[in-house]
Amino acid sequence: SVELGIDSHGWFVSDVKRLRQIVDNLVSNALKFTSEGAVTVTLSYRQENLVAEVQDTGIGIAPEAVKRIFEKFEQAQTSTTRQYGGTGLGLAITLELVRAFGGKIHVESNVGKGSCFHFEMPLAKASSDTSSRLAEAAEQNAPVEVNSQSLRILAADDNPVNRIVLASLLDVLECDATFAESGEEAIRLFFERDWDLVLMDIQMPNIDGLAATKLIREREREESLPRTPILAVTADAMAHQVAAYKQLGFDGFVAKPIDIARLHLAILDATSDQKA
Ligand code: ADP
Repeated sequence: SVELGIDSHGWFVSDVKRLRQIVDNLVSNALKFTSEGAVTVTLSYRQENLVAEVQDTGIGIAPEAVKRIFEKFEQAQTSTTRQYGGTGLGLAITLELVRAFGGKIHVESNVGKGSCFHFEMPLAKASSDTSSRLAEAAEQNAPVEVNSQSLRILAADDNPVNRIVLASLLDVLECDATFAESGEEAIRLFFERDWDLVLMDIQMPNIDGLAATKLIREREREESLPRTPILAVTADAMAHQVAAYKQLGFDGFVAKPIDIARLHLAILDATSDQKA
């Protein structure tokens, strides 16, 4: 069963995929080690934190094992693998994911009675603007999701870590993303395929985002191609810099570090004119 705390209604901004992975790991363990009784998931929202509990009435974990349970390749008893299978990696991954969200996790357990895994992590409520757009979208059969689902996005960033972060955000937003690792590659890919939107990192070696965008806009004009929206992705997002980007042919910007709700809105804003 799933219980929702009173305050857990509404829209939240999170990496849904990873959050789901955490809950999946805990729930599948609970089901695996419980043959009788119940598995209960409780979620609530307290002081800007998601508070979650996965409780079971299963075999429980011995006190000496509880201490090591989140370590890699650790299983409560050596007989566990034989009896239940598993690699002992699930909880180590769960712990890492919870920490990546800035949260913490612990377990309380009684042998023969059951276990309760408790985790909390900071979770932002969506801004009222985003909430109302999302709520509206949900009411009208989710045109926002449908819209973004099919978006083909070309994202250029020379930094591999930034590409991974952006890839997971775009994945959450259900965009179809392709990555360029340099300005040169961005220009080549841009003219190779059709795109709904380009996310262009500004600072890249050799051809930077400004030069790449300038070149793309020139060629679009020369060859009378339709204008594809390009958003600057940059830590330099002061008013005069934003104005300069517009002048250079950008349609908007996404500030670094990237906030998923802002990214979502920027994508919707930049692509809505086209699609309308
Ligand atoms: P595995 O992939 O082997 O399940 P985990 O890291 O998820 O690895 O779990 C490690 C060990 O912790 C399990 O093998 C089991 O001994 C114990 N364990 C985890 N969850 C529970 C639970 N809900 N009840 C009893 N034991 C558990």
